[in-house]
Amino acid sequence: MCLSSRTASMVPAAAIHTCRTAIMTHLQQVLDEIVTVAAASTDRGEVADYVPELSLADPAMFGIAVALRSGQVVEAGNARVEFTVQSISKVFTLAIALGRLGDGLWRRVGREPSGLAFNSILQLEQEDGRPRNPFVNAGALVVTDAILAGSEPREVLTELLRFAREAAADDDIHINKDVARSEARTGDRNRALAHMLKAQGNLENTPDRVLGTYFHQCAIEMNCVQLARAGRFLIGARESALISADNVRRINALMMTCGQYDGSGDFAYRVGLPAKSGVGGGILAISPRRASIAIWSPGLNAQGNSKLGTMAAEMLAARTGWSAFS
Ligand code: GLU
Repeated sequence: MCLSSRTASMVPAAAIHTCRTAIMTHLQQVLDEIVTVAAASTDRGEVADYVPELSLADPAMFGIAVALRSGQVVEAGNARVEFTVQSISKVFTLAIALGRLGDGLWRRVGREPSGLAFNSILQLEQEDGRPRNPFVNAGALVVTDAILAGSEPREVLTELLRFAREAAADDDIHINKDVARSEARTGDRNRALAHMLKAQGNLENTPDRVLGTYFHQCAIEMNCVQLARAGRFLIGARESALISADNVRRINALMMTCGQYDGSGDFAYRVGLPAKSGVGGGILAISPRRASIAIWSPGLNAQGNSKLGTMAAEMLAARTGWSAFS
């Protein structure tokens, strides 16, 4: 059995090396097995088509990558094919907003699961314009509005890209302008949400300004390897210049309770790891103090989360024993 980080300092470097190699070999076997199961799946969910550019994704795609605390990465399947992270970007904007505003952010957005679809308008009206959490679209629009204060959309997007690039140690991370434009053309529900927020006094910028920024943040493109690396700032095992330890805990808690929309309870039960999904079919999951996991398969389940991605996260947690609860 390999050693914990607590005891690792007491054993020779060669033993630690052997141990790490064994972990990597085991992980590679697990990921290969997951890819085999995914490849054989005939029920792959439905690719999102409300953003025309997203409907072009090939449902046969499946990629997975795990970035360990040590920085080593294990990958399998289509882990080097790019996709837009969509709502996974909300984790990065939340990290920036919390770092800047601290608890002041919670005056404008809640921390409770919504129990409704990611783009629901219903709750917003009933609850006087304070979105349930930062991961439903209404909440994410408020977070984007908050980080737009005193800045131009271009500056915010530059800061966001800088954050993701620094987190991943990869300067190739970029925005897919075609996807951003495609969503801008068809984003009427988001437009409705932004105008409702404005009418209810919870948007400081104009709806157009917030929406333009939001559509571009959702169109940040990464592959699984880049996303797994970018998620390492949430592992929480070491000091980070990007985020405080308190905010790592807070964001992981929100990912656990709200990260899969109205599928969050089921995901927590089946997988037991904090995670955030995007309608592009990506899932970023965190095994606290151990690893950052990125999975991508474009077909979605009824809650708008990647169908095979959810299956893969469950398999990975079962095979590795990784859980936030043990
Ligand atoms: N850009 C998408 C939207 O606002 C993000 C939703 C998601 O990924 O869940 O509709």
